[in-house]
Amino acid sequence: MNIVILSRNPQLYSTERLVEEGEKRGHKIEVIDPLKCDLIIEKEKPTIFYKDRYLNYVDAIIPRIGTSVTFYGCAVVRQFEMMGVFTTATSDSIIRSRDKLRSSQRLSRAGIGMPKTVFTNYSRDVEKVIAHVGGTPVIIKLLEGTQGLGVVLAETKNAAESVLEAFNGLEARALVQEYISEAKGADLRALVVDGQVVGAMKRQGKEGEFRSNLHRGGSAKIVKLSHEELKVAMNAAQALKLPVCGVDMLQSARGPLLLEVNSTPGLEGIEAATGRNIAKNIIIYIEKNTK
Ligand code: ADP
Ligand code: GLU
Repeated sequence: MNIVILSRNPQLYSTERLVEEGEKRGHKIEVIDPLKCDLIIEKEKPTIFYKDRYLNYVDAIIPRIGTSVTFYGCAVVRQFEMMGVFTTATSDSIIRSRDKLRSSQRLSRAGIGMPKTVFTNYSRDVEKVIAHVGGTPVIIKLLEGTQGLGVVLAETKNAAESVLEAFNGLEARALVQEYISEAKGADLRALVVDGQVVGAMKRQGKEGEFRSNLHRGGSAKIVKLSHEELKVAMNAAQALKLPVCGVDMLQSARGPLLLEVNSTPGLEGIEAATGRNIAKNIIIYIEKNTK
């Protein structure tokens, strides 16, 4: 099979591992920069021009689209869809997963537990917003944050007010969320492939840090998920139509609470923590879905 990985950086661990496992299973794997693709739109024969050739021979794609190139990256994914090429994540589902507000609305409709959250449109009535999530301490998050940057723990009403004022002043939209103290600076990451959990790790923030992101100095260990946690991970993947994704959850006194679903989950942390061959699982998933 001809498999294309849409990625701006062939040197990333995840990209390299997918190339390696794909080649081991006898496929031809190419890494293509979506920003260098020209989309040719024509009646009944949409195609893509890349460097010196038409990409008419591709059987499947694995989008690894960074958040900064969501718009054009997803246009390229959509073009492949128009050409009848199988994708491990559709353009619609990637775009949806990048929008925290839109995803939360869909997940709550699917009955998935989340920390109590308020989205406001630059509200000045901070007191009400805090009351809605049960009082301080609260978590305040920039809507477009990633890797734990733009996530703040505000212990008091005054602190929350200052942070929201600062974000409002910068015209950066934020959400206010109930702080789950029982999580004790840890979260769970479940890796879903073909709708099933194929590996899970518990990430623990470094001493005195409530954020467990590996980028913020956290560490990861393999973990066996409870039945309920498995269910939340698989239901979230299904609700957002992402058969391949990373699902982040917090362990709370009232059970697992969903934090977010990542359509381009990194493989390095999870393969190291679990010892599982997740890249191979993704290639096998493609084989099952393409003729
Ligand atoms: P990002 O997308 O930037 O990683 P997250 O929403 O995943 O942001 O938050 C980063 C980390 O902060 C999480 O992995 C978790 O450890 C911690 N965290 C986030 N929200 C809460 C919350 N409501 N209660 C307690 N801890 C939280
Ligand atoms: N930066 C990668 C991502 O956006 C890795 C993050 C992670 O797996 O926690 O998915």
